[in-house]
Amino acid sequence: MYTSLLLAIQVLSASQNKLSVHWEELTAADFKDGIARAQGTCLLPFGIMEKHGPHLPLGNDLLNVRYVALNAAQQEYAIVFPEYYFGQIFEAKHEPGTVAYSRGLQLQLLQETTDEMARNGCKKIIIVNGHGGNNSLLPFFAQTQLEAPHDYVVYVLGIARSGPGEPKHKTNPATDMHAGESETSVSMIARPDLVHLDRAPQESGADQARLKLPDGLYTGIWWYARFPNHYAGEGAAATRELGDFEAKTWINGVVQAIRGVKADQESLRLQTEFYERSKHPLETPQ
Ligand SMILES: [Zn+2]
Repeated sequence: MYTSLLLAIQVLSASQNKLSVHWEELTAADFKDGIARAQGTCLLPFGIMEKHGPHLPLGNDLLNVRYVALNAAQQEYAIVFPEYYFGQIFEAKHEPGTVAYSRGLQLQLLQETTDEMARNGCKKIIIVNGHGGNNSLLPFFAQTQLEAPHDYVVYVLGIARSGPGEPKHKTNPATDMHAGESETSVSMIARPDLVHLDRAPQESGADQARLKLPDGLYTGIWWYARFPNHYAGEGAAATRELGDFEAKTWINGVVQAIRGVKADQESLRLQTEFYERSKHPLETPQ
């Protein structure tokens, strides 16, 4: 009786000593310890709320990117910011369930979020992107950090799930972009309970190629022109084998990013030097 009580106390205190990687699960005192343990490195997994073909949940990108970020942070400690899905998704406004905040708010909210993270000790913030529609927004946001001085660094990690040794794909990778074989496979690992594979063939994810423009000429309606069902690829081709490989590759990429960022002492130093020089450009040696 006494031994089992002692064991229970030991188990309890061990679990209390283990710092959660979830920002929202930490006490204020544990948050301070977490920031120290993370060396000021925090993750902002960035999802979206949009249709994902006929077979995946609206929050698919949020669920997958959080699965990846949380697993990575458990391997290499970092504090993970709560659910964030306030990105660029105007191209899906014609579909049910899309939440598309205005352009100005996307940038302002992201700036205030990273400012608040930094005020709380996150001096190195890795935005882990989980949504292809943010691929222009996030590097632009990072570039604009040079507009005014900051005492922290924003890093952006793109979606990278492929790598050497990858199981063979059944469908064409060139059009496997949204709720197709690759993404559906990862969802089968992150949240298998939310994948309705039997519904995947109910709509077409084929490229309808309705614009005839020269290469290199961009216009915002390109996505709708090609994939009006907001579905690109064939989800029915997904397998757990491919998902397992791609999820592990993605997690490993985030782990490497956390380690690289923890080791990086140059970015903040150079940023600070740059802000200082920007105040007096005529004093910059020519
Ligand atoms: Zn997606």
